[in-house]
Parts: sequence; structure tokens; C-alpha cells
Amino acid sequence: MKLLFFLLCSCLISCGEDHKNTKTTLTKTAEPETSAPVEKVIKSEKEWRELLSPEVYRIARESGTERAFGPNYKAFKEKEKATGKTGVWECACCDHKLFKAETSFDSGSGWPSFYSVYSKNSVIEKTDNKYGWSRTEVICAKCDAHLGHVFKGERFNNPTDLRYCINAAVLKHSSESSSKESK
Ligand SMILES: [Zn+2]
Repeated sequence: MKLLFFLLCSCLISCGEDHKNTKTTLTKTAEPETSAPVEKVIKSEKEWRELLSPEVYRIARESGTERAFGPNYKAFKEKEKATGKTGVWECACCDHKLFKAETSFDSGSGWPSFYSVYSKNSVIEKTDNKYGWSRTEVICAKCDAHLGHVFKGERFNNPTDLRYCINAAVLKHSSESSSKESK
């Protein structure tokens, strides 16, 4: 975990270096609300354990995976139906905005699937070589919770040809208007 944190810091520092050498065009292209650097939420393992349910803790903090078509997924689909795909799906650990509900699509995988993230500051993507093949892990940019993986080129009929395959347990629904407060 310490190594991971170190790598993350190194990445952030080197990214910061890069930005110094580029022209300042970022503010023109990004939405003002979402272009600000993400303020990290850092808690101890003990604090997360106290805050989260055992299921969410196992998935978010220990890189677990929920069962496909399990109760979490069913609850997700029910919420999606009830809200008519409006609002935002936030991180269950820290309330960070992750996905617009309207970018969800039915992949048949048994996990929530999205073709795009809420903003470029929503998640961090990193290579995951567990289980002998290379995948791209998706983690919350604010609290580093493990969310799931992203797959490219699967030819689902969506605008990006991406599938963010996310554990329903780490998603919390919020309407746009009531989600402005953050911890
Ligand atoms: Zn989070």
C-alpha cells in the first residue's frame, strides 16, 4: 500500500512537471466545476472499516469483486429504473462523482456498465496484471477505492467503445442538485 501511494505521488509530481511545460489551455477546455485538482480523502484501514459495510470494505479497500447479477446489481438496476437514469453515481466511500447515470448501458455482464466517466477527475486508471493478464483497473480519484475495470474495443453500441465495469456495491446514487456537498 505504501509503495502504491509512493507511485501515485511520483505520478502526480511528474504530471505536475509536465503541465509546467505546456501552454495553459486546460482552463479553456475543461468545465470549471470539474477541472480543479481532486482533494484526496485519506483514512486509515481502521477508519474505513468503521465507516463502510463489510461488503463495501472488501471490494473498495481490498480490491474485491462482487458476484455478477447479485443483490448489489439488482439494487442498482432497481434504482436506475426508479430514477429514469437521471442523476449521478457517486463513490460509496467518499461521495466523489464518478458516472452520470445517463451513460449507463446494458452489457449483459451482471455488473453496472458505463461508457464514460463523470469528468476527467473522476477516476484514475492503472494497469492491473493480477491473474496473469493485463487489465485496466479503475479507482476513485478522491479516495483510491477500487471500483472495477475498464475495457476497450468490445464493440458495444455506445459512443466511446469503452465499458467501465463497476461493482454496484461501491456506487451510490445521487440527484445532481443534492450532491454538491462533499466530505
Ligand atoms: Zn471515493
